[in-house]
Amino acid sequence: MAKHKTHFEDCDVLVVGGGMAGTGAAFEARHWGRDLKIICVEKANIDRSGAVAQGLYAINCYMGMQWDENQPEDHVRYARNDLMGMVREDLGYDMARHVDSTVHMFDEWGLPMMKNEKTGRYLREGKWQIMIHGESYKPIVAEAAKKSADKIYNRIMITHLLMDEAKENRVGGAVGFNMRTGDYYVFRAKTVIVAAGGASHIFKPRAVGEGMGRTWYAPWSNGSAYALPIAVGAKMTQMENRIVLCRFKDGYGPVGAYFLHLKTYTQNANGENYEKKWYDQTKELVGEYIDHHPTPTCLRNHAFIQETIAGRGPIQMVTTEAFQDPHLETVGWENFLGMTVGQAVVWASQNIDPKYTNPELTTSEPYVMGSHATCSGAWVSGPEDLSPPEYFWGYNRMLTVEGLFGAGDTVGGSAHKFSSGSFTEGRLAAKAAVKYIEDKKAENINVSDKQCEDFKKVIYKPLENYTVGRNEITGGTVSPSYILPIQGLQRLQRIMDEYVGGIATNYMTNGNMLKKGLELLKWLEEDLENVGAEDYHQLMRAWELKHRALTSQCVTEHTLFREETRWPGYYYRGDHMKLDDENWHCLTVSRRDPQTGKFTLEKVPVYHIVDEKEKKKAS
Ligand SMILES: Cc1cc2nc3c(=O)[nH]c(=O)nc-3n(C[C@H](O)[C@H](O)[C@H](O)COP(=O)(O)OP(=O)(O)OC[C@H]3O[C@@H](n4cnc5c(N)ncnc54)[C@H](O)[C@@H]3O)c2cc1C
Repeated sequence: MAKHKTHFEDCDVLVVGGGMAGTGAAFEARHWGRDLKIICVEKANIDRSGAVAQGLYAINCYMGMQWDENQPEDHVRYARNDLMGMVREDLGYDMARHVDSTVHMFDEWGLPMMKNEKTGRYLREGKWQIMIHGESYKPIVAEAAKKSADKIYNRIMITHLLMDEAKENRVGGAVGFNMRTGDYYVFRAKTVIVAAGGASHIFKPRAVGEGMGRTWYAPWSNGSAYALPIAVGAKMTQMENRIVLCRFKDGYGPVGAYFLHLKTYTQNANGENYEKKWYDQTKELVGEYIDHHPTPTCLRNHAFIQETIAGRGPIQMVTTEAFQDPHLETVGWENFLGMTVGQAVVWASQNIDPKYTNPELTTSEPYVMGSHATCSGAWVSGPEDLSPPEYFWGYNRMLTVEGLFGAGDTVGGSAHKFSSGSFTEGRLAAKAAVKYIEDKKAENINVSDKQCEDFKKVIYKPLENYTVGRNEITGGTVSPSYILPIQGLQRLQRIMDEYVGGIATNYMTNGNMLKKGLELLKWLEEDLENVGAEDYHQLMRAWELKHRALTSQCVTEHTLFREETRWPGYYYRGDHMKLDDENWHCLTVSRRDPQTGKFTLEKVPVYHIVDEKEKKKAS
């Protein structure tokens, strides 16, 4: 253990993860906390980290309030509709009312925005999306964070949160290790903002073996945003609401610009419009939700999945008409070159020119995240002026652990934030964290040396497991006393895939399968005590796996708890195939007891604040 040097850093605001939400948090923390010490710790390098690493072609959340294009209420209704009613409207409204100011700053900071030359308005791709030349998106927001924070630590993976030993249920910082040097880092902090992105690779991906890593969601997002708070007993919400994406096959190129801007459409292999064929069957399952406009994302997936199961795939995107227009053809290609170069490469390798061939679409394996058309994540306090008492406990975006805040994919219940909304939520969380410090709520935090030393032993144990166990084998990778991270990952993915509603079962699961899944996950947890890492990179893989496994337990518990199929197309409960508004028009909230590892779940009311307000106004 002495081999790994320990570094101590004390600070006021610690931001874990320097993606969209983390950079927003670092920026805003400095605005409100001029004299505070602000540290941001990132697993990769913030210039190119997180889901926006490669760039984006559109900012998907912009109201355009100055031109009265949309108001925050409209966005709440939109997100509520898309998530089949299940969102935290206080959080969504709060994000939406501030998101335009974030986008205007991006514009000032030099992000190339596409504008109408005559009106000066941002060019819209759809009702909520505006178009950008966004290859440089991430370095631009990273620069704002670098100028704001006292220090950015790159290449440090945070593995655990520290807890205050003077006051129960109050955070005290975080620990992790540098993946290049192997050094141990202790960050003692008055407040911690977790902004560590969502989770890919917990369900078995379509691309395995040589194609592993080719997923829609960033392959390096490993659920730390969930595992860190879960491990210290923070409450989580809507973890069953995993997302499945309809995307171009193999490259996972986005379809938004194609549908919205190029006006392309889908068809089955026989050239038929299949979506309307599933109307009656879907109505049987979800009732009037199928009549909502726009059709919720999961229900569009549902038609796709059912049509494929019926044997009329592959489903194609009809590009051959739009691509005859040279301008649309350029937009179609640029859309990939700015953010998913791999899709263009896949098409080139398969001899697909979308001008002459309609490319295939697919539905992805499920991912867990909180900022897209999905809202898994931590149960947080909302803003003072909007939230009903059950949703408010003092500080905006504070989790149920004192001093611990969240933003972006970390936060549950608030879907459709996307890149701009995640940055905005980081700003909101940071403002509240600074207030928490100013209100003297973070005084006399005590984190003992013992707590830090204990974590140090735990963190490096996989290196020891490997060093001791490797002598038992003379060749190959199968050891009697340790498992490698890749072996554990594949086991996790199979459990989730086969029992919790992955691609193996066409997203189908049921109570019995989920219980079996939980049993297998428990055994995996036990075996992960014996994960072996041969170097620091594998040590990172080991901890990524542990975070994924804990996240998976939470997802499975939630999926078991909600006895209905709320989002057909994301997953199905075969034993409860229908949406059940009478019993399940509510949010699900879980807590894992850090001592026993047992989860308890509860139903929490979902308040439709926006229309209630309007109803009251009218009466
Ligand atoms: C494929 C894809 C396409 C998208 N397209 C669009 C789009 O066109 N327009 C749009 O507006 N939005 C888009 N989004 C959404 C947008 O990217 C996300 O909403 C946003 O990035 C979420 O911000 P975040 O900070 O929560 O996560 P991220 O931006 O992913 O940041 C998380 C950060 O945490 C770091 N991290 C993780 N674990 C640890 C750890 N243990 N210790 C330290 N650091 C850690 C990661 O390295 C990463 O930098 C897209 C997302 C995806 C996945």
